[in-house]
Amino acid sequence: ISNVTAIPLLNVPNVIQIGYHLMDHIAADLTRNINNVSNYVIITDTQLAPLYLDSLYQSIQSHLKSSQRLLTRILPCGEQSKSRAVKASIEDFLLDQKCTRDTCLIALGGGVMGDLVGFVASTFMRGVPFVQIPTTLLAMVDSSIGGKTAIDTSHGKNLIGTFWQPVRIYMNLSVLETLPKREMANGMAEVIKTFAISSEAEFAKLERGKSQIESAILGSSDTATNLDAGKAFLLNVISACAAFKANVVTQDEKEGGLRGLLNFGHTLGHAYEAHLSPEWLHGECVSLGLIHEAELSYYLGHCPFSAIERLKSCLQLYDLPIHFDDYSNKVLKLSPVMDTMKVDKKNKGLQKRVVLLKDIGSTLENKPTNVDDVAIEQVLTK
Ligand code: NAD
Ligand code: ZN
Repeated sequence: ISNVTAIPLLNVPNVIQIGYHLMDHIAADLTRNINNVSNYVIITDTQLAPLYLDSLYQSIQSHLKSSQRLLTRILPCGEQSKSRAVKASIEDFLLDQKCTRDTCLIALGGGVMGDLVGFVASTFMRGVPFVQIPTTLLAMVDSSIGGKTAIDTSHGKNLIGTFWQPVRIYMNLSVLETLPKREMANGMAEVIKTFAISSEAEFAKLERGKSQIESAILGSSDTATNLDAGKAFLLNVISACAAFKANVVTQDEKEGGLRGLLNFGHTLGHAYEAHLSPEWLHGECVSLGLIHEAELSYYLGHCPFSAIERLKSCLQLYDLPIHFDDYSNKVLKLSPVMDTMKVDKKNKGLQKRVVLLKDIGSTLENKPTNVDDVAIEQVLTK
């Protein structure tokens, strides 16, 4: 696999595979290395089907043995598909098609498809293998890695789910060309978060690399050499993020401590999201959460002011909001935000837990830190 970067996950080699123009590679690897499969089922959404389903279908079809079947299922796009009803509809489809335990589900899409198909795979016939083909930046650097699967209910997001690890995660960066700009920025929030907690050097590269990322995504540049450099740059950024998350998950699969580091910006970000969604995307709420949690770190005397400044500039550079009025005139009040944080799944009792920065690239502890409400209120009302 020469033009493919491979990353191990949970001590299994080659689980994550990253590169450009991977459709044929995916089909070959899938059919060669995942054993005892009679049925492959590609599940995708209405947005992605016209763009990529045909080429994936043709590639896999050309590698199948005569005893194997390839089925497809197209679902409505959007968070609404992460529901009990849609989960049941996939299960009914699989049962109608006489799929049994030798079925491999393939999630082609963003985090919505990944979470949903992963959940179906974890309980269908007591668990069947599944493969992630993440198509958003957020799904590549975050949701496809780690084995968390879930659906939503009217009581909240992700309240019902399982841990179920994909057998492969194929990141075909060519698909980012069609990703809407706002969705790209949404994923960049997780990229910036990852480097802010893990590597000053990688963070500094991001601060200088906007034009390279742009040319890689648009698939164009002034010269072929610059285009290749841009593509290599984007591949390095995504590989570094994926490798960091894979390493954290390998050390702490079920989130005992270390995995909690990935929640930098999310204690506040999730609370903002509860009030600003669906007008604001997850990454946009996290952008504000990152800034305010860095301000909290500064307020508590753990990080220099320059860390806040660098974080803000970098988020702004990648088209993320740094003020609440950047594109919403909803007024956010302190007390509902504090109330929302009380019911965070990650709390220990009423104690708020926040990932505190030491500087760009490192955190105060190897896990979230207990923080008093008073400190949070001080920072949010200043
Ligand atoms: P998404 O899956 O809804 O995708 C966003 C939109 O972009 C969709 O309309 C989709 O059809 C479209 N799209 C996707 N790829 C495209 C492409 N290449 N070209 C054109 N259009 C494309 O959103 P998302 O941000 O990827 O995922 C959000 C979901 O992920 C949420 O449900 C969230 O709870 C979940 N999530 C899960 C984890 C986890 O650990 N399991 C982590 C973070 C987020
Ligand atoms: Zn997130």
